[in-house]
Formats: sequence, C-alpha cells, structure tokens
Amino acid sequence: MTHELAPLPYAHDALEPSIDTQTMQIHHGKHHAAYVANLNKALESAPDLQSLSAEELLKNIAKVPDGIRQAVINNGGGHYNHTLFWSIMGPNAGGAPGGELGDALASAFGSFDGFKEKINNAGMTRFGSGWAWLVFDKDGKLAVLSTANQDSPIMSGQKAVLGVDVWEHAYYLKYQNRRADYLNAWWNVVNWAAVADRFAKLK
Ligand code: MN
Repeated sequence: MTHELAPLPYAHDALEPSIDTQTMQIHHGKHHAAYVANLNKALESAPDLQSLSAEELLKNIAKVPDGIRQAVINNGGGHYNHTLFWSIMGPNAGGAPGGELGDALASAFGSFDGFKEKINNAGMTRFGSGWAWLVFDKDGKLAVLSTANQDSPIMSGQKAVLGVDVWEHAYYLKYQNRRADYLNAWWNVVNWAAVADRFAKLK
C-alpha cells in the first residue's frame, strides 16, 4: 500500500492561540507530508513490506533490511508519531482527565500535576529534536520517557498513550527558543477524551 497523509482532524487554526495556524500548516502539510513521501520512497526497494502499516513496520523494525532500516525509523516513525500527535489534540480541550485515566496518572505519578511535570521535564531535557511520551512499558506500567529524532517507543515494545513533539519545527515560529512556554501552552490543547480512548485500548 501507499502510505498517505490524512487530513488534520480539525482546522489549522483550531489550536490557536496555544499553537498557531502557520505552525500547524507547515508542520502537517510540509513536515508530516515529507515523512510520508520519504517512507514510500524508502519502501520502493522492499515490495514485501509495502502492505504493512507504519505501526507494523516499527513494531517489527528488526525485520526491515539494513539498507532502509534507518529511513523507515525516521520516516515511518515520523508518520506514526505525528498521526498520534494530531489525534490527541483538539479545540476546546485541555483541563485534566477524569475517570480511569485520571486515577491511573495520579497513582503512577503522585498527582496529575506530578505527571505534567514529568512530561515537561522529559521534553525539556531532550537535547536537540525528539518527543516526550507517556507509555505503557514492557511490564504494562505507565512511564514517562523521551526519545530522540523520530524514534518511536513502539519500536522497543512499549505502547504509546500520549506524545508531545519537541522538535523546533513544532513551536519555533511562535515560541522561538522558549520550549518551556510551548510545553506549558500545549496542555491547553490536549484532547483527554482521545487520550482516554488510547489508554483504554492499550491497557
Ligand atoms: Mn513534528
């Protein structure tokens, strides 16, 4: 199959003022689009892998031939990670999760604020480009971690519940060097219903 860029699930200006319209246009329409195009290009030499989704490719990354493995990590990761990222944001969002997810975060990290602090810290201490994540680790426990570049936690057997992009392309137009300000504003656009859905499916 040919990998395709799905439309954003909301308008480019839907996350204003936390994430500006132009950043969303470039981030989705140029950066994510390029990962999709380059994933398709990388797979041209591997017809037997063309039927696999980005998720399946990443979960079985050891089976991808040496010559294209890094390209699949970078671009398959870029495709999977961004698709997840768009899906857990939205307009009229933010606040704090209730229900089972709220309880699980409080239990794993002391409190919801404790969880936010862990994610912010993971994002702030990721040198260069990467992501901060909430995952179910291999033992099925909730954990916060960061990854470099487009490395996806699903490559190492973890399940990605929530991820926040800390590449400069995610925030530079509005926040310049102020990654901390971007991360603080990002919580205003987290769609907790979507995160709770992922949590329920993955747990
Ligand atoms: Mn990005």
